[in-house]
Amino acid sequence: MSEKKSLRPASAVVAAGRPPVSADGDINPPISLSSTFHAPNEIGYGRYGNPTWSALEDAISALEGGRTLTFGSGMAAISAVFNILPRGAVITASKHGYSGTMSLLKKLSVEERIEVRYVDVANTQEVLDALPGTVLLWMESPTNPAMEVADLPTIIAAAKSLNCGVGVDNTFATALNQKPIAMGADISMNSVTKFLAGHSDVLMGSLSTNDEALFTRLEDQRKLGGAIPGPFESWLALRGLRTLAIRLAQSQKSALELATRLSNHPKVAKVRYPGLPTDPHHATAKKFMQGFGAVISFEIHGTPADADTVCSSSTLISQATSLGGVESLWERRHRWSAESPSIPENLIRLSVGIEDVEDIWADIDGALGYY
Ligand SMILES: *Cc1c(COP(=O)(O)O)cnc(C)c1O
Repeated sequence: MSEKKSLRPASAVVAAGRPPVSADGDINPPISLSSTFHAPNEIGYGRYGNPTWSALEDAISALEGGRTLTFGSGMAAISAVFNILPRGAVITASKHGYSGTMSLLKKLSVEERIEVRYVDVANTQEVLDALPGTVLLWMESPTNPAMEVADLPTIIAAAKSLNCGVGVDNTFATALNQKPIAMGADISMNSVTKFLAGHSDVLMGSLSTNDEALFTRLEDQRKLGGAIPGPFESWLALRGLRTLAIRLAQSQKSALELATRLSNHPKVAKVRYPGLPTDPHHATAKKFMQGFGAVISFEIHGTPADADTVCSSSTLISQATSLGGVESLWERRHRWSAESPSIPENLIRLSVGIEDVEDIWADIDGALGYY
């Protein structure tokens, strides 16, 4: 195993999480369907661990550069982090982010379980000013669906110098594009549901960390909270993860091309994609990101109803929520009441899949002609 340590990420996701080599041994980890295991035990019981989870966790660990715990969904992973905070803890969080995370933060604040200081993560000074006195900085970058980029190396270093814990929701970028743990973050979180699993057929989440004591607290939280992944889902996610590097390379290459064409489309008012040289976040992103991801948000010259018409007029791109799959998806974000009021009503979020870019563009251009 030790020779695999030096593998580059695109190779690590293929090579990690395999059973030990033996004559006629499995190439892939078997799906372990047992709720209990013979004594004497390392695992013990199916809520404490499972060999198929472990295989997936090893592969995500190789990618993130930290030890990994998987959960039954991305929200289960995020909940585990917030659940280990002491009562009344003050945290700093991005004001734009995944609607489920934002709703959870709001609920925990209303219950006075925690206190949240919301910041614009793209405004480094605003983040730094909020940090003193907070125990955790929880950040998305790029943010969902505003596509703002935080200066992660600067902000993480500042937070650590104040002894503030740092968790980064790495779902949009993935560890192929940025490595929060290498930048000093305590936790890198993924909605494995999205790019890592990549086929819109599984829900799962992960937390990776290099801090052993933190790992143990989060593992205890998983055991007691019980938000564990299923063995079959873990197997599917690992199968999907094997092709992450080529899927992401294809999708983000197309995303840049599509963002460029959208910027020049007469019906498009604004495009948000950090890979565009004209994007306000491009300079920051370029400092530390290896690629800019495959999600584009854009606003049309038109009403929210027009945006709904666009999204329901495509034939290749499905009108559906979620992102990071092989198939392109789009939706007007405000069709969900939980979306932040500061996200424009007519903003469309497009998750670029691996289809031929010319087919995706023909579909977008055609759909924009329907209003
Ligand atoms: C989808 C998503 C989540 C939540 O993940 P689930 O697997 O749906 O629970 C969290 N953060 C981001 C950025 C997401 O896109």
